[in-house]
Amino acid sequence: MKKSKETKYIFVAGGVMSGIGKGITASSVAKILQARGFTVSAMKIDPYVNVDAGTMNPVEHGEVFVLSDGLETDQDLGNYERFLDINLYSVDYMTTGSLYLSIIQKERNLGYKGKCVQVVPEVPNAVIEKIEKAAAHHNSDFVVIEIGGTVGEYENILFLEAYRMLKNRSPENALFILVSYLPLQKDGELKTKPTQIAVRSAYAVGIQPDIIVARAEVPMDKVRKEKIAINCGLEEADVISAPNVENIYEVPLNFEKDGLGNRILEKFGMSKREAKLSSWKILIKKIDRPGKEIAIGIVGKYFEAGEFTLTDSYISVIEAVKHASYAAGVKVNIKWLNSGDFSTGSRAFKQLNECDGIIVPGGFGSRGVDGKINVIQHCRENKIPYLGLCYGMQLAVVEFARNVVGLKGAHTTEINKQSPYPVIAIMDEQRKKIDNKDYGGTMRLGDYKAKLKSGTKIQKLYKKSSVVERHRHRYEVNPEYISEIESKGLIFSGSSPNGKLMEFIEFPEKMHPYFVGTQAHPEFLSRPLKPHPLFLGLIQAATKRKK
Ligand code: GLN
Repeated sequence: MKKSKETKYIFVAGGVMSGIGKGITASSVAKILQARGFTVSAMKIDPYVNVDAGTMNPVEHGEVFVLSDGLETDQDLGNYERFLDINLYSVDYMTTGSLYLSIIQKERNLGYKGKCVQVVPEVPNAVIEKIEKAAAHHNSDFVVIEIGGTVGEYENILFLEAYRMLKNRSPENALFILVSYLPLQKDGELKTKPTQIAVRSAYAVGIQPDIIVARAEVPMDKVRKEKIAINCGLEEADVISAPNVENIYEVPLNFEKDGLGNRILEKFGMSKREAKLSSWKILIKKIDRPGKEIAIGIVGKYFEAGEFTLTDSYISVIEAVKHASYAAGVKVNIKWLNSGDFSTGSRAFKQLNECDGIIVPGGFGSRGVDGKINVIQHCRENKIPYLGLCYGMQLAVVEFARNVVGLKGAHTTEINKQSPYPVIAIMDEQRKKIDNKDYGGTMRLGDYKAKLKSGTKIQKLYKKSSVVERHRHRYEVNPEYISEIESKGLIFSGSSPNGKLMEFIEFPEKMHPYFVGTQAHPEFLSRPLKPHPLFLGLIQAATKRKK
């Protein structure tokens, strides 16, 4: 195991305001170092008291990203995984809640040997311990640690203190990047004062930022760079221009243009290295020159707060669609379809015919379920390419059972416990737990293996006989109905290795050009340069339909 002392730690925190792309900045910093041949991992510290992101509402907090070991985390972990093409684990995520929980557990177990457990230094120490654990886990040369929120907030003060203590212990191994924001004035001038004030807030907690990444609508000129440098105790080379981009995957290349990668190495006293980003550059060129335009409809319920929230709530699905579109050389327009609009007989169905493919993503609860089932029926009957993710697969089974198998009133017991045909239900072992009000552990979370039926579309798409995908669900296809459903044409093309849990569904080619569902969340494993086969299949079928 590499001694953590050798690992370099790069903290990334916000100044001025949040929501300006700190996660993409952290991912891109990690990327340009990885492109130099280093082993790089990334972690996120969220200041809220929730122990993980599992209980949080996607409308307020964005998507819940699931790691391979099952931890439910912030969507930024998804960005790190996509940019770095690595798997992250529970060690790479912490919240105030998870930290205090572990400290309190240690105290209860006499782990502090009679000492008075004080917030300082115990909490920052626990933060540093966890960061070092993550470094050891990945054997990282660099760990990029993103702290949620901005400097100057009470909430993250102990995390900033952890940085200060780490820096104190080994100044040569720790570096602080402040991601700031420069408002653009009507006359085209970028204002630097808020950044100067943010740096003063960092001083107040004993931190001198080493690098400032200045987010702005437009690139920053030399005068502004000089001004920030002089006022914030830095050199001009430490001030990095980060203008808005069309595509987030351009950010590492922009950072390289401003010399950030080698500047970081220099700051650590390391010699310069060339970044190998050629496949990344080819990708950007491809994105810039898309071919045919297609429309993919995503049916969801998180609509009340507008497009911005939607993109956050379904970020991995959107990215997976984009990755597949890059590989297929098409431009995808995403159409947001509100499940609530698709009541029987509604005019909304016209919108579906304007789409070349439809996705029903994961979801929980009853809202919009009838609309989703109606959309699925329309896709099946009108041969519109369809991809059902988790709930989207379960509801496709419900629709098929009702309208093709003839099981009137078939449903998932999540919505109707009294359904005469509970085609989606909770398995016995889980039910016992839930009857005892023990909800913990009743979800299937994280990696599960599935074996694929040979000769099926799914198996051909994956080009494998077994796959591992991430999961986040409680209900399953009820085994009692499988043979009846299959007899009418729906194929269960993959299952858990013991054959008990259904993982994939499809229609044979002669019935439908592309009708695929999975109990898993394949969107979590899609990468910019490695599109996920099920999304690629959808985009290809949609492109074909467009002709
Ligand atoms: N609500 C469904 C279940 O719990 C599906 C979950 C999901 O789509 N992630 O099984």
